[in-house]
Amino acid sequence: MTVDSAKLIEIIEAMADKITENREYLTQLDSAIGDADHGINMSKGFRAVVGKISGMAEKDCGAILKTVGMTLVSNVGGASGPLYGTAFMRAGQAVAGKTALDFNDLISVLEAALEGIKDRGKAEKGEKTIVDALEPAVEALKMHREEGSRVALREAVEAARRGMEYTKEILARKGRASYLGERSVGHQDPGATSSYIMLEALTARLL
Ligand code: ADP
Ligand code: MG
Ligand code: MG
Repeated sequence: MTVDSAKLIEIIEAMADKITENREYLTQLDSAIGDADHGINMSKGFRAVVGKISGMAEKDCGAILKTVGMTLVSNVGGASGPLYGTAFMRAGQAVAGKTALDFNDLISVLEAALEGIKDRGKAEKGEKTIVDALEPAVEALKMHREEGSRVALREAVEAARRGMEYTKEILARKGRASYLGERSVGHQDPGATSSYIMLEALTARLL
């Protein structure tokens, strides 16, 4: 698989579409354990992103990802803005100057995104956050790397889905939902859900 700049823009636009389609759903999840704005925050951020990157097909993949990150940081008010913003900026650094990405580059991009989120938010797996969907996906990609991108991407999206589902069973230890303590159990994490949605949009474009 190869992702050039035009294809990368298509993938990010597909993520934006899926986030917009799931705006109410993400907001509804956030109303149970947060402040009912995750879908609003994410769709607003991605609307701004689409406007910024549509004319960037001549730029390299690193520059496009960096623009996505900076746009999310400056357009999303909630915790998710700086977190996803850092993820995309780090992803951009990982492939700076490249006009096309192969499968190993894609793994580096997702690894860098995960590290960015963990550095910024200080969350580990099992704390009911974005990390619970993204980290299993990155682990699956690395574990199945030798089996080729199709197998590895399918495994990654499945791992993200299981991680997202698992957030229903655990207590929130980071972010707004952590104020609820035990009362956060039984609800799926909005950020883990938006991560899964974005990973699914990405893999759907590559399979
Ligand atoms: P806010 O909580 O400021 O309203 P959002 O509703 O947009 O922001 O995002 C909430 C999501 O952010 C949570 O569901 C969780 O997945 C994620 N999140 C919050 N804090 C952290 C953190 N420290 N690390 C990783 N993800 C986090
Ligand atoms: Mg919120
Ligand atoms: Mg908020």
